[in-house]
Amino acid sequence: FNVPAPVNEPILGYAPGSKERELLKAALADARSKQIDIPMYIGGNEVHTESKGKVTPPHDHQHILGYYSKGNKDHVSKAIDAALAAKSDWENLAWEQRAAVFLKAADLIAGPYRYKLNAATMLGQSKNAYQAEIDSACELIDFLRFNVSYMAEIYKQQPPVSPKGSWNRVEQRPLEGFVFALTPFNFTAIAGNLPTCVAMMGNVVVWKPANTQIFAANVLMQIFKEAGLPDGVINLVYVSGPDAGEVIFNHPDFAGIHFTGSTGVFQDIWKTIGNNIHKFKTYPRIVGETGGKDFILIHGSAEAESSSTAIIRGAFEYQGQKCSAASRVYVAKSIWAEVKKFMLRDLATFKMGGTEDFSNFINAVIDENSFNKLTKYIDEAKKDPAVEVIAGGGYDKSKGYFIEPTVLVVKDPNYVTMSEELFGPVLTLYVYNDEDYEQVLDLVDQTSIYALTGAVIARDRYAIEKATHRLRNAAGNFYINDKCTGAVVGQQPFGGARGSGTNDKAGSMINLLRWVSPRTIKETF
Ligand code: GLU
Repeated sequence: FNVPAPVNEPILGYAPGSKERELLKAALADARSKQIDIPMYIGGNEVHTESKGKVTPPHDHQHILGYYSKGNKDHVSKAIDAALAAKSDWENLAWEQRAAVFLKAADLIAGPYRYKLNAATMLGQSKNAYQAEIDSACELIDFLRFNVSYMAEIYKQQPPVSPKGSWNRVEQRPLEGFVFALTPFNFTAIAGNLPTCVAMMGNVVVWKPANTQIFAANVLMQIFKEAGLPDGVINLVYVSGPDAGEVIFNHPDFAGIHFTGSTGVFQDIWKTIGNNIHKFKTYPRIVGETGGKDFILIHGSAEAESSSTAIIRGAFEYQGQKCSAASRVYVAKSIWAEVKKFMLRDLATFKMGGTEDFSNFINAVIDENSFNKLTKYIDEAKKDPAVEVIAGGGYDKSKGYFIEPTVLVVKDPNYVTMSEELFGPVLTLYVYNDEDYEQVLDLVDQTSIYALTGAVIARDRYAIEKATHRLRNAAGNFYINDKCTGAVVGQQPFGGARGSGTNDKAGSMINLLRWVSPRTIKETF
């Protein structure tokens, strides 16, 4: 069997007057005009509860988009039961039939659902049209189509040798039990990818999205249903972390977790799984992408204007709320003045506001907790004589959680915001003496516990070589003369090690292999 050869989904430009802009505006207006009721989905049934949570746009927090039904431990148990009940039919379905469901889901997103899903991401997660397009449309479509092609490759792999009179083969079994998908707010593509790539390999899933991503998660579930995903294969619940954890990590059929979120939560989950290891039928697969403190290193030989572009786009697209976002920058003194000039020129053109006005580049941060945490760091920095705030520093939460793109220049390369993950539009920058390049490589490597993305910008080939070699373990995705965000499925498999996760590269065969448990069969004739 061949599967359709995947190609990256083209990015729509949403230019003024374009048909796609009109369609997206209509979808935004439609979503804004009502207050929807958002159910959980257990065994294919919509489940409504009395206890409701509010969905509001982060940039307009008094506007109510809908109410979601909050579940409890009982709903988690029911979701597990529904998953296990669906398991046998789903895992015994020919893999081509499973693949077809996800290829159809990709087509539905590329076609009729594109604007609805992008609008949900723009309103629910405060992404501008371009950021929504590259996330909930292109990246998610790519995940689905490329993963189907990787899946086909996995099923084709067989032992190369079967001596005369025998036949050796490998059967890629799904995991024995159910998998828990715990998904973040910052990418609708990740929320869609984590449960689907697990399900694709014949597994059944209990899916809990971040509360701040529910508006788009609800649309995703509608798409999966319309694509023909059988009832119970993916069950969507809105419950608290402790409620989910208590039921799931005590269940004998818990077979794995697919996680994207904070390092602290992932470490707690890992410990709980370890403590309960004797309760499970099998060793659960633990796959997670966690935090980052991603760097851009500018060498003295770099070109100033493109360095500035890499810095500000890497740091401030989607308000710096990408795990891959640049949050610490090291610039050589010899070109700092020029880089700074371009940064300030371009930052001055960034408009901030709601996502419905397409001219706004900067929107709101995700919620009040994040706003409060970020503004605390900004206030501390403003008071510190060793820190210079060269851009931004302002904030206002009266209508939405708005924080200006903020650049802190520090004298101490170990200043707190050089190592702690902030997850917002705050960039810390350190200017080094050109002749200290090699020591700076050590600093870059050792300042943070994370190792997700990083970039070096230089024209000098020896400088590039040194950074590539010395920073080998400092980033799972390493960019040369580019920003450190925006990995594309099929081009740059994504993920990092150290405090950034298990590095099971999202959008790759490596990831899909975690969701099968191979059986080797030897037959003698
Ligand atoms: N893959 C995204 C990128 O390269 C980041 C994903 C994340 O934030 O987890 O920008």
